[in-house]
Amino acid sequence: MNHREKAEKIAEVYAASFLKDAIGHDLFIGSHIERLLADKVNLIYQYVEDENYFGAAIKHQNGEQFVVLNTFHSLRARYFTAAHELWHLSEGSLMQDENFDHERAADRFAAAIMLPKALIMELWNKFRKQGDEAAILQIADLADVPYMTVVRRLSELGENVLPVKKITEMEWITVRSELGFPISASDYSSKDTRFVAYEHAVKENVEKKGLDILIAANKLSKFAPKLAEQYQHAALSRGHVDEDES
Ligand SMILES: [Zn+2]
Repeated sequence: MNHREKAEKIAEVYAASFLKDAIGHDLFIGSHIERLLADKVNLIYQYVEDENYFGAAIKHQNGEQFVVLNTFHSLRARYFTAAHELWHLSEGSLMQDENFDHERAADRFAAAIMLPKALIMELWNKFRKQGDEAAILQIADLADVPYMTVVRRLSELGENVLPVKKITEMEWITVRSELGFPISASDYSSKDTRFVAYEHAVKENVEKKGLDILIAANKLSKFAPKLAEQYQHAALSRGHVDEDES
């Protein structure tokens, strides 16, 4: 078995056991992947206009774990990234030797938890009667994953999907409109910037430890722009009161 095959095999086994623990049924978790991830780590939503930057998993010196998701991408891509990053934080990833192909494992793990084997195969065989493209679109919508992820998963599971293998994510959106599928919100991004744990920490410092609201606004401008704006507004109107009094 080469490195690639080993990574795929191990990731698939861990994915099955993860799903069994987290859900216990064969179903598509879709957007719920971000909740599952948030249970384990501090989730940071960052908006960066870079199509090659999807996200990152970071472990702080004190052991705290963070996952960054770039909200520039479509929701489909974002959920897949969340599932990919989950591999990097899993026990399965910690147990591997230094030659292990983690990137391949992370992609396989993500595909396996977003598209459980038995479920995707059952639907594929059912939906295929309406044509391969329609079947792929329907599965991608049910699972809330990129179209290309469905194609890749099916081919990894031994299905012959060669005719559609080369279609890009953008081209799939055209295919969906040609086949009369409605517009999907998951093809678009939900531009967001959030770092809930950090936001809470700063807020607590303001409320309980007297941290100045203008300093708090500066600290939060990058990760919690709405709260930062509120603090700034409060600081400005406080400024007015001071002026009036003097
Ligand atoms: Zn990775």
